[in-house]
Order: sequence, then structure tokens, then C-alpha cells
Amino acid sequence: MREQLDGAGGLRHLITLEGLHREVLSGLLDRAEKYRRLPGQPAYEGRELAGFTVANLFFEPSTRTRASFDLAGRRLGAHVLSLDPHGSSRAKGETMLDTIYTLEAMNTDVFVIRDSEAGIPEFLIDHVAPHVSVISAGEAHLSHPTQGLLDALTIRMHKRRFAGLKLAIVGDIKHSRVARSTAHAVMTLGTSDVRLVAPEGLLPAETEFRGAHRCTGIEEGIAGADVVIMLRIQRERMAHGAALDEAAYFREFGLDAQRLKLASPDALVMHPGPMNRGVEISSEVADGPRSVIREQVNNGVAVRMAVLASIAATLTRHRKPL
Ligand code: ASP
Repeated sequence: MREQLDGAGGLRHLITLEGLHREVLSGLLDRAEKYRRLPGQPAYEGRELAGFTVANLFFEPSTRTRASFDLAGRRLGAHVLSLDPHGSSRAKGETMLDTIYTLEAMNTDVFVIRDSEAGIPEFLIDHVAPHVSVISAGEAHLSHPTQGLLDALTIRMHKRRFAGLKLAIVGDIKHSRVARSTAHAVMTLGTSDVRLVAPEGLLPAETEFRGAHRCTGIEEGIAGADVVIMLRIQRERMAHGAALDEAAYFREFGLDAQRLKLASPDALVMHPGPMNRGVEISSEVADGPRSVIREQVNNGVAVRMAVLASIAATLTRHRKPL
């Protein structure tokens, strides 16, 4: 894969957290903290992306990530195009490249891309012009780097450390790009006790998530945990849309107030959304005092601003002179 950093160490593309050192991740989180504003406060408005054009290309449905990138770009002064390129043929490589080249001709500087097919962001990195960047907003089941960063920021805001934390990820880990990116982020930042909690059929392959522990019982998995991340069952990634007995799943793997007592008393409850209330999490927990689910959404905008601003600073060095 082509480097995500340029020769000077600046962020050039962001399609995976793999290969990015702790200092790079921490730097992005530091920057995001500066952009972070609580609901009710005036949003940060800056000019870091003035003169830049960002195109959001979401080939898979998305509400929060798309809105988040949209706002992040606008709040830093970018021109933001949000296209909905649905109904494209399966000759997607071709079709997508044509779209990219067309938008490049209109001076697009950054492509934010979400696709259900693995390999598309990397393919684009290899084809975009030298002054253009690619950010992944979700690649198949493999990678969702800005979600990993926003989860890390949420944890850091509350716990102020990563070393020594016990973190449980519960649910459909096998199909979850969030689990992959978030586990990668926290492990890079220093957390070593990461537990993957799922029914046997939803655990990832043994070759993945190196260093994490696997567990097929939620009680054991969340015992003493400082952070509990609940995941949605992703039927759209299952071969046959898998029949699921939702009530049985909730009984075995759902997080309710009773079960949450097994975790640390100040445990954070997280969920990337969209939530299926009553399937993986009860409303009482989702809306309860330990939940930081809306903070994750708030932090998502700040993290995306930080990523866009870092990339814009790098791109400035690669632009052609007037
Ligand atoms: N929104 C997250 C994603 O895009 C999680 C999910 O869809 O369940 O992967």
C-alpha cells in the first residue's frame, strides 16, 4: 500500500489506522480536542480548509458519518460536495474512477469515500493526482479509521489514559470495521486488555486482532471492564441475511442495566450507531448515566475536522503554484 504519510511525515491519506504510530494518532486527538465544542456552545469555525474542495462519495448508506464529514469540512471553510452515487453498475472500479477524474477536473482536493467493497480506498490512492487525498469513511468490514479515532478520543476524554484499561467489544465483531479500527487505535495507544465478546459464529478469524482475548460469554467478557463497546448485528454483511432470534440474542449478549453492574462502576458504555435498542442494548443503558454514545457523535465531528485540517496542511505543500 502507498504511504499514508508524505516524506515530511504529514498526513496525506487516511484509509486505515494500521501502520500509523502512536504519535500520529495522539497528534490527531490533540488537534480534535481543540475543535471540540459541546452541544450548546458555538461550533468552532475556522479557515483551515479555505480554498479546498471536499467531495463525499458514499456508495453505502450513512447518516451520521456523512453528516459529520459534511459539517467538519464546512466548519473549516471547505467547499463540500456530498454526492449520492447510488445505482452505479458493478463495473464499479471503472465507474468510480470516471467520477473521481471528473471531480478532480473540478479542483476537488479530498475524496471521502465509503464503499462496501474491500480495497476501493487503496485503489483510489493509486489513481488520484499527486495533489489529491483520499479518506476512508468506512471500507467493507475492514476499516473505519475516523470511527477508531473518535472512539479513542471519547475514551481519552474520560479516562485520560489508555494503559491499564480493560476494554470489551461486544457483538458482531466478525463483520465490524468499527471493532477493527477501534481495537487498533486503543492498542496502538497503549491498551493491552482488549476483549472480543461474541457468539462463536460472530468472532473474527484467529489471525485477526492480534493480542486481543476472545470470549463467548458476555458476563465473563465485561467483568471489571472500564469501557464496553456494543456493536450492531450487521445483517447486510452476512451471506444469507442470517435469521436472528433478536429476543434470544438480547438474552445472551444484550447489555441491560443488570449486566452492566458486572463492569467497573465508572465504566463507559459506547456504541457506534445505529443502535438496535432491545437487540444489543437496552434503552435504559443507551440513555443511562454510563452512556457516552452522544459524546461519540460530538467527538466524531472534531476528529474529522482534525483529519481534514492535517491533510489540508500536507496538501498545501503538494499543490501546483499559480
Ligand atoms: N456506523 C458504523 C459503520 O459504518 C457501525 C454500523 O453500521 O453498525 O460501520
